[in-house]
Amino acid sequence: MPTRVEAGIVDALTEVVGAAAMSTGDDVGDDYTHDEALTAHPHRPLAVVRPADTAEVARVVQLAADAGVALTARGSGTGLSGACIPTEGGIVVSFERMNEILEIDLENHVAVVQPGVTLDQLDQATGAHGLVYPVFPGESSASLGGNVATNAGGMRAVKYGVTRHQVLGLEAVLGTGEVIRTGGKFVKATTGYDLTQLVVGSEGTLALVTEATLKLYPRPAHAATVLAPFATLADVTAAVPKIVASGIGPLLVEYLDVITMDAIARGHGVELGVDPAIKEQATAYLVVVLEDRHENRLEEDTAELATLLGDLGALDVYVLPSAAGAKLIEAREKAFWTAKAAGADDIIDMVVPRASIPRYMAAVAQLAQERASLVVGCGHAGDGNVHLSVFQKDQAARHDLIHDIFAAGMQLGGAISGEHGIGTEKKVYVAELEDPVKLTLMRRIKAAFDPAGILNPGTIFDPEDFDGEERT
Ligand SMILES: Cc1cc2nc3c(=O)[nH]c(=O)nc-3n(C[C@H](O)[C@H](O)[C@H](O)COP(=O)(O)OP(=O)(O)OC[C@H]3O[C@@H](n4cnc5c(N)ncnc54)[C@H](O)[C@@H]3O)c2cc1C
Repeated sequence: MPTRVEAGIVDALTEVVGAAAMSTGDDVGDDYTHDEALTAHPHRPLAVVRPADTAEVARVVQLAADAGVALTARGSGTGLSGACIPTEGGIVVSFERMNEILEIDLENHVAVVQPGVTLDQLDQATGAHGLVYPVFPGESSASLGGNVATNAGGMRAVKYGVTRHQVLGLEAVLGTGEVIRTGGKFVKATTGYDLTQLVVGSEGTLALVTEATLKLYPRPAHAATVLAPFATLADVTAAVPKIVASGIGPLLVEYLDVITMDAIARGHGVELGVDPAIKEQATAYLVVVLEDRHENRLEEDTAELATLLGDLGALDVYVLPSAAGAKLIEAREKAFWTAKAAGADDIIDMVVPRASIPRYMAAVAQLAQERASLVVGCGHAGDGNVHLSVFQKDQAARHDLIHDIFAAGMQLGGAISGEHGIGTEKKVYVAELEDPVKLTLMRRIKAAFDPAGILNPGTIFDPEDFDGEERT
């Protein structure tokens, strides 16, 4: 039975969006109760509200702020950190109806999108103009609102950067219900603090994104996928900075340890054509994709890369036929599902400077061995982002292991999450390991954007972390 406050807010929100765009009680589908984080528990919200436009979002936020009811923004729910899981008694603001590509500006090379537009949708629309939005996290059903809120990365970050580097401007609703517009169809502005960049990566805790202006690029027509098996993981990771420094300009540089490569190849029926004698010796693989507008230039770069990989100790080098190359990349994108099916207990996505990956991976291997745990993985090696699947059933032992894996990476100048975000699932490590001065400053920023503390409480920080701190 809803309380009087709960019934009141549900009625008020229904008046804003209409009954057809509101779900409560058993009408709330299970999808809205979770994301894809392995460790998070689902929560059933009081209601799901599906606004149609910015004015409705603003009104929803005002009403929730007045009633002190928590709001959790939701895109496609593909997040891996528990960040879009609603709080008990809170409201989900789902952006599924705000899913229009408002403009593809061919002269300024930008797209203006509503937050519920998916990566698939944008890719189709830009492809029709020979353009590309270059952020490809492993899940293309993800929404642009979710991408902005998590600062999504993915395999192409080594060439193009991550979401943060593509967002030129935003429209967003603050925790007060006020609407701001930031940036625009230009790269540079020095007009006070950069509010666009504060909102990017804030995991729905500072503002609800209602529109994004994104950079587009010409879409090169030709690509080549090169696969190089190596005898040791250390050889692979040591090769990465040299490939990036070579000037060849790879689109992606991914490493996979042998366990992960075998699992994804078997799971997705990928035939790599690697000589069995080489396969015997290989304990890790490097996958490099090159792209170009001109086929002959691509061929030259591919030949140069093959020679370089040989010099860097590759056991062999394979230029995959295009169908096999595409299949391998697709299987790599699905590595998360493979790890989940294999029973991984947690996934982490630490980032370290790419030249420090060999030292980091050595530290991880030692920690895993000392704690009788299995830690395997793959990653966007070109930008230092390492995705590790952790197999350790005991929760306390797993916590200590992950804490030490994060601490080892931070000692090398790394950060706890390279792209999946902190959400509800990694905040304990942030509280344990991050600089308290920075955390206090972040809480003050949150209080300035969201004085009532209604936007995604429990994500990044525990609500109690704000006790005793002044709200604006
Ligand atoms: C198989 C698989 C592979 C993946 N690979 C990668 C990868 O390589 N790189 C990577 O970065 N991520 C990856 N992810 C994670 C995920 O796809 C990204 O985090 C994505 O950005 C989430 O988008 P979403 O629409 O699903 O957001 P959701 O999961 O719905 O939400 C994520 C966060 O965004 C907030 N949010 C959503 N919409 C808005 C809005 N309009 N305004 C404010 N806040 C909002 C939510 O509150 C939450 O905090 C992967 C996930 C899967 C399942």
